[in-house]
Amino acid sequence: MDTDTVPYSSASPDDETIAAIATPPGPGGVGVIRISGSRAFAIGAALFRPAHPHAAGEDGFPPSHLLNYGHVVDRDSGERVDETLTVFMRAPRTYTREDVVEIQAHGSPLTLRRILALALAAGARLARPGEMTLRAFLNGRIDLAQAEAVMDLVDAGSEAARRLALRQLQGELSARMAAVRAAAMGVLVRIEASIDFPEEEVPPPDPEELRALLTEAADGTTRLLAGVERGRIQREGLRVALVGRPNVGKSSLLNTLLGVERAIVTPVAGTTRDTIEEAARLGGIALHLVDTAGLTPSDDPIERLGVERSRAAAREAGALVFVFDGSEPLAPLDFAAARELRDLLGDDAAVPVILALNKDDLPAALQPEDVADLWSGAPVVCVSARSRAGVAPLEEALARVALSGEGQSADPLVASARHADALRRAAESLAAALAALESRAPLDFVALDTRAALEALGEITGETATADLLDQIFAEFCIGK
Ligand code: GDP
Repeated sequence: MDTDTVPYSSASPDDETIAAIATPPGPGGVGVIRISGSRAFAIGAALFRPAHPHAAGEDGFPPSHLLNYGHVVDRDSGERVDETLTVFMRAPRTYTREDVVEIQAHGSPLTLRRILALALAAGARLARPGEMTLRAFLNGRIDLAQAEAVMDLVDAGSEAARRLALRQLQGELSARMAAVRAAAMGVLVRIEASIDFPEEEVPPPDPEELRALLTEAADGTTRLLAGVERGRIQREGLRVALVGRPNVGKSSLLNTLLGVERAIVTPVAGTTRDTIEEAARLGGIALHLVDTAGLTPSDDPIERLGVERSRAAAREAGALVFVFDGSEPLAPLDFAAARELRDLLGDDAAVPVILALNKDDLPAALQPEDVADLWSGAPVVCVSARSRAGVAPLEEALARVALSGEGQSADPLVASARHADALRRAAESLAAALAALESRAPLDFVALDTRAALEALGEITGETATADLLDQIFAEFCIGK
């Protein structure tokens, strides 16, 4: 059977029992096989022989939610496949809200595959990636935002990302979304009641009341959007680009910040031809450092390619470290780099810049005030890639930038681009609805925009998510989750 081509959303939670190895591939101390669905108990019982059968319940199965010691046995050959701890869990208090059996075996890939094969032979189907979580969503245990948080939690690469995912999983985002949706729904209900029963007793909706509800929904949406950038940084990390003219020590500084010899450091100007990216961790934030080949235009075609990449890296960065050689006076190329950067970022550049005077171990030819004019308002840090002096203040400056995120005080709840996009569309529709209301347009128009906003909001928690969207989201999951 070709299960790969079946769309996830077409899975029918009622009649197919699914099984998967839930622990990562490779040997481990313990490996877990998870079976979920209406036949999970029957399949579990066919595989597992408890060593000390408890008083089985009326249904003949081991008691729910208790760990049973025993063996997985191949009924055909009578062979003991492994010594296991097995738990039978009756719906609905399970991960999927279906009957679930979890077999904790020794973490041998061969053993786990053998047990999985037995489960499949006993009537289970191999679970697709994310299918357990999809069922939890389809069975109403969690909403779509929480399902996505499960994946974010599993994938979290930093402490900040982990905390954010957990808050989303525990429903903080869902609760805030519910409040926004309730306000928008209130608008729709009031308008539709008056449209559906024009001659009846239903009084026309009070515009003040509609305005208050729309404003509440719009404000809630805006507040969630305000945390997006910071949330994204917590989830994905901050992309920091090191820029500056050749030979000021960008590659060396990258290595020092990362603590490894990664970028090629050479005394010949312009030898870092490519942008080199590495991830570092800083106070729970993932930093993606992008070393660039310098911003200075060049005649050499390969160099030019490097310069192009540098510019792209600088444009996409969440923060820039503009590096100078503090042991030399400012060179025309430093001014050129500053000009380049300004052209690249535009005047109202929102990207924070930190000025780094490198080579602080050598006699200083530059003072902080000499460079401060090149980028007004930017903090200046004296640092030495060689002696590591000043690295801590530079890291602190970066951490401040990473965590400040446009003066937001509240903790972010939205980190994914998908959620941010839906929120933006909702905000636009709500603004349109408010404008229609203000201009005394027919209430149909207000209702139309409000409905569009509700659609967009529903994509986040899943009420209005299409099958395609679900397929797309759950296909990213790992098997067994
Ligand atoms: P990039 O072209 O800006 O990436 O510069 P590199 O990292 O390749 O460094 C250029 C030269 O400066 C190399 O010879 C480095 O060893 C030297 N250099 C880099 N950082 C320091 C530093 O902090 N102190 C000293 N004394 N030399 C440095």
